[in-house]
Amino acid sequence: MEVDYVIVGAGSAGCVLANRLSAAADRRTLVVEAGGTDRSLWISMPIGYGRLFHDPRVNWCYRTAPDSGLAERRGYWPRGRVLGGSSSINALVSIRGRAADYEDWAAATEDAGWGPEAMARAFRALDDNDRGADAWRGVGGPLPAHSIDADAHPLTHRFLRACREVGIPPNRDFNGETQEGAGCYQINTRGGRRVSAAAAFLRPAMRRPNLKVMTETRAVALTFEGQRCTGVLLEQGGHRHQVRARRDVILAAGAIESPKLLQLSGIGDAALLARLDIPLRVANANVGTNLQDHFGLNYYYRARVPTLNQELSPPLRRFWHGLRYLLARRGPLSMSVNQGGAFVRTSPARSLPNMQLYLQLITTLEARNLSRPLLAPDPYPAFALGLSNVRPESRGKIAIESTDPSVPPRIEANTYAAAADLEEMLEAVKFLRTLAATQAMAPVVDSEILPGPTVTGDAALIDDIRERTGTVFHPSCTCAMGADPATSVLDADLRVWGTEGLRVVDASSFPNIVSGNLNLPVMMLATCAADRILADRS
Ligand SMILES: Cc1cc2nc3c(=O)[nH]c(=O)nc-3n(C[C@H](O)[C@H](O)[C@H](O)COP(=O)(O)OP(=O)(O)OC[C@H]3O[C@@H](n4cnc5c(N)ncnc54)[C@H](O)[C@@H]3O)c2cc1C
Repeated sequence: MEVDYVIVGAGSAGCVLANRLSAAADRRTLVVEAGGTDRSLWISMPIGYGRLFHDPRVNWCYRTAPDSGLAERRGYWPRGRVLGGSSSINALVSIRGRAADYEDWAAATEDAGWGPEAMARAFRALDDNDRGADAWRGVGGPLPAHSIDADAHPLTHRFLRACREVGIPPNRDFNGETQEGAGCYQINTRGGRRVSAAAAFLRPAMRRPNLKVMTETRAVALTFEGQRCTGVLLEQGGHRHQVRARRDVILAAGAIESPKLLQLSGIGDAALLARLDIPLRVANANVGTNLQDHFGLNYYYRARVPTLNQELSPPLRRFWHGLRYLLARRGPLSMSVNQGGAFVRTSPARSLPNMQLYLQLITTLEARNLSRPLLAPDPYPAFALGLSNVRPESRGKIAIESTDPSVPPRIEANTYAAAADLEEMLEAVKFLRTLAATQAMAPVVDSEILPGPTVTGDAALIDDIRERTGTVFHPSCTCAMGADPATSVLDADLRVWGTEGLRVVDASSFPNIVSGNLNLPVMMLATCAADRILADRS
């Protein structure tokens, strides 16, 4: 088979690329996706998140290497393996990041086209905001932003009052003029259903005759003539066959699999490739390094008032909510696990918000070893206040350990490798306790369950941080764009340095992680990348 573009991976980026590139009717595009169909109630129903979290049928379920920053624990890293990729299994929170993040992108690439003004225009064009358009927000775009304020649980409103008490200003729109403040998250749903990248971008384009999508098909190697990437070797149902790309092969396999495919194809650290007897095509030690992720930690509270545990734990209530969802697409099953949140400065000395907060009104502490925890909430009223750093300094690494493409790479998360990240988290957990002790929250807090009131003092708090921190599911930057091949993997048009006809477009292409959740920024990056790819006359 020969096409113009081969896109590897139908995730957040791959679906956008498929839509935009196949809009050029004179060019043929093939998308290959290792996972299968996204036609599932658990994917379309927002609360199905809990069911998908550990489901290997739609999830790569990675484990990191033992992490010395986390008391030698191995982290669990879910990633989508299905049409829509991680956007089909994520928590739906819709955040763009802040202008300063994209100032850093523009500086790293020396290209104003990745700067905040260009990004704001691209985000606005994607937007279908249910509160209408303004200078920042758009309507009529492919991606719905649904406001949950009217349906939010009463505790969410109490949380927002507590935020005001500690000086966090209210913010009605985290994707508007400023990100700082507290409010309800908007989510990517329409009519109570998840709108993944597949629903918003891929499925509408699948009617086009010049777009072909192959599911259950894995890219196992890239083929080259000299330095030009000519196509991809695919594996489907135990058979291998080759597809040729007249113009570009575009890796959109995500922050773990994209660098892995480059390394398997001889593009990476020369010493690593030599150890595995992989012939060197391009020596670039930046492939797989510079791994950035948000790390987070929850403080759990037993409540004096009902939380969603009381709505979703008793079988009769659960049945009622199931019925309500099926008939009206309303209620807790139509919402994200995260209702309220905030972007805060955990000390006045900080010039920008450094932590994102999440209020979660379902807890699953008793069910931690079950494979479907969110379907088994705790029988008592409880909630969690969650923290996630926005611009961590620690850097991790992805490196293949085998030439077998079915073997996952080694993931070194290196959580808290930078001392500043640990100091910041320590400051943040103290800030959380202040929030829980406000006049607004105190009456509804029965007790702190985890870490518990006996955990006090910096040493004990740090031990707890190391024992309980986990990923917030945002690995990125492992094939970073930049202006200099000595410090990056891609040029500003997302071409792999030292090759022709090969690009990487997904979360791994970020020069730096952005402040907030990544789904929207990845889709925005892919939109801008598609414009550059279509405009490329080389
Ligand atoms: C549990 C969870 C919760 C999250 N919550 C949120 C949230 O609330 N809000 C938010 O904005 N972000 C959230 N995120 C993050 C966000 O969804 C991801 O950052 C984003 O979807 C990544 O997009 P991507 O295109 O880089 O990769 P992905 O969407 O992961 O896509 C990569 C695709 O490539 C496929 N693939 C990989 N290797 C191959 C191969 N060799 N051959 C063929 N196909 C291949 C994969 O199966 C996958 O479909 C969450 C993520 C997770 C996992």
